[in-house]
Amino acid sequence: MKDKEYHILSLSGGKDSTALAFYIKDNMPEIHEKIEYIFCDTECELPETYDYLNKIELFLGKEIKRIKPYKNFEYLMAMYNYFPSPIKRWCTVEMKTKPFRKYVYDMFKERGEGTIHLYIGIRADESFRAAKGKYGDSYIEEEYPFVDNGITHSDVMDILEKAGVGLPDYYKWSKRSGCYFCPFQSKMTWLNLYDNHPDLFEKAKAFEDEKNPEGCEFKPVGWNLDMLLKDMIKPENAKKIREDFERKQQKKKQESPRKLINMFADEPMFDEDDCGENGCLFCHI
Ligand code: SF4
Repeated sequence: MKDKEYHILSLSGGKDSTALAFYIKDNMPEIHEKIEYIFCDTECELPETYDYLNKIELFLGKEIKRIKPYKNFEYLMAMYNYFPSPIKRWCTVEMKTKPFRKYVYDMFKERGEGTIHLYIGIRADESFRAAKGKYGDSYIEEEYPFVDNGITHSDVMDILEKAGVGLPDYYKWSKRSGCYFCPFQSKMTWLNLYDNHPDLFEKAKAFEDEKNPEGCEFKPVGWNLDMLLKDMIKPENAKKIREDFERKQQKKKQESPRKLINMFADEPMFDEDDCGENGCLFCHI
């Protein structure tokens, strides 16, 4: 019998889900009391994300349960034998969605079946992303406190500042949380990864090197559809990527701020950084 009520907030290491946790703490104390904070840890997240989560945990005063995938990325990559991509995003399914469902399954087994109120940090200024039934699971009831209470981007920034946690450190060079090799990241972010975490860039490149041995005549395969990482860091390509990025930034500034895409100028949801699908609620919100 499904008579129990559970409350869960899945943190991504991003600013909106973090702000929601503090919003709930300050404005919905009865929910904060019983909510479970979780983090679906791919074990491939950025070091800054792990640091940020530790900080959030400390400031929230509640444990964030780390949920791990059943196999690590290396194993899954060998199993699928192709790079995850925006079109075939098996990474989210295997490393986020399935572990979350397993967590729920174990919870129901241990504590009894019920309804899960899943709190999602979609803001009022992006409310078109909010939809009941988004997860497609009958036991999940999506909750959008920011949409319901008119909390926008500037409010989120205020919440984070007031809470004392601020933004995650990766914001200095990347706009999103997620795996260091996320195929959704722009070429500019790849270059920033190279500058900020050369070891992780090398690790990502090693997957490409393995799949594209010297002298192989097949079309190269990698994290990006059109350029391997080893080519991306060639000076002439890196220069062009940086110039294109700058040009795009300038163009954005000149365009009308009323244009929908520019309302989210700090989070380019509809360009090459875009995820645009449900699973990324786990990865990037
Ligand atoms: S952050 Fe990117 S690579 Fe990691 S699971 Fe999500 S979509 Fe896949």
